[in-house]
Amino acid sequence: FDVHGAPIIGHDEKLKGIVVVFHDITELKKLEQARKDFVANVSHELKTPVTSLKGFTETLLDGAMNDAALRERFLTIIANESERLEGLIHDLLELSKIEGEHFQLNWQDVDVEELIDSTFTVLSERATEKNMTLTKKIQGNVTIPADPARLKQIVMNLINNAIVYTPEGGEVTVRAKELAESIVLEVSDTGIGIAKKEIPRIFERFYRVDRARSRNSGGTGLGLAIVKHLAEAHGAKLSVESKPGKGTTFRIVFFRSWKETE
Ligand code: ADP
Repeated sequence: FDVHGAPIIGHDEKLKGIVVVFHDITELKKLEQARKDFVANVSHELKTPVTSLKGFTETLLDGAMNDAALRERFLTIIANESERLEGLIHDLLELSKIEGEHFQLNWQDVDVEELIDSTFTVLSERATEKNMTLTKKIQGNVTIPADPARLKQIVMNLINNAIVYTPEGGEVTVRAKELAESIVLEVSDTGIGIAKKEIPRIFERFYRVDRARSRNSGGTGLGLAIVKHLAEAHGAKLSVESKPGKGTTFRIVFFRSWKETE
């Protein structure tokens, strides 16, 4: 609590009483803490690849450059780490743009089949490498009132995660169906799943259930935070169902009336 007190002085200049105001600043403190945690996390996430870039560059300059095999190995690491850094900076900028005051959606009617096909095309190589199948199940001619680029970002993140967190040979299924007032979009996988207690945390920035797995697959830990913000901007409801060892379904429900009432 933030406490302020002030005396009440009467016309006769005598003390009549004291006003004490208790201001509940729990929320403010929480926000302040979240901001501090975010800055600490960003610094840490940026520092890790930079330390590695510096280390490998110095080792090359110290003589490793003369060994062709070492040179190739270290340069590959440097290239990969630079890419990670670029991805991280890209996601951070996206997040700050989406959270910014001036963020606006470019509303259109987005054809779901086209959206899913184009996303599958981008991710098909990754799926083939893991011998996975990508399937779509769309009931009818479904369109979603949404910002096409932002909706694509949502779907891309969810399908990419479904591929990353599913072992070789698994399946990813994207479903879409139109109800009276809403459109339901689901991304399901047959992957590792998420323990119940982890589910509330996975949308936090930089939270990962398995840090090493996320890092190795090029994850930044920001994908679901971006998805959550974008879903909220669309007035959509985002939920997750998962069974560890069996698979996960992310569901987003878009409401037709939202755009008009926004
Ligand atoms: P990352 O870049 O680590 O994938 P995200 O924000 O996209 O970051 O996801 C946060 C965490 O949620 C992941 O690190 C992973 O532990 C978990 N997760 C996300 N999608 C899935 C999924 N389809 N199956 C299992 N775990 C998942």
